Amino acid sequence: MRCFNHSEIEAVAVCKSCGRALCHDCITEVGLGCSCKGRCESDVASINDLAERNRTVYQKNSAIYWWSGIVLISFGVLIAGYGTVAAMFSKDLAGSLWTLLYGVLAIASGFGCFVAARRILQK
Ligand SMILES: [Zn+2]
Ligand SMILES: [Zn+2]
Repeated sequence: MRCFNHSEIEAVAVCKSCGRALCHDCITEVGLGCSCKGRCESDVASINDLAERNRTVYQKNSAIYWWSGIVLISFGVLIAGYGTVAAMFSKDLAGSLWTLLYGVLAIASGFGCFVAARRILQK
């Protein structure tokens, strides 16, 4: 691929904003991206800014999922434990088993939250 401005020179990078191939003389670095010198610098800077903000949002969402998962599993263990004890000692076996089932469901959704949190971070 040749430079957009110098057809005889091999391009070394592509502008993050307009996608043009550029040679060493035509390119400048903005943050983690490359940009046309004197043309796309502010655009690339705002693209970088946006990407950075997206990443922070993902991390925040992921943290929320982690905490929901932890809370759900803690509650689930308590409820399931209560259901187990009730099933052994109370006369209302059906009711106790339902309680146990709710606990298990809460634990399962807690693990679902963990999976969601991991998926967000992998994006
Ligand atoms: Zn450009
Ligand atoms: Zn050039």
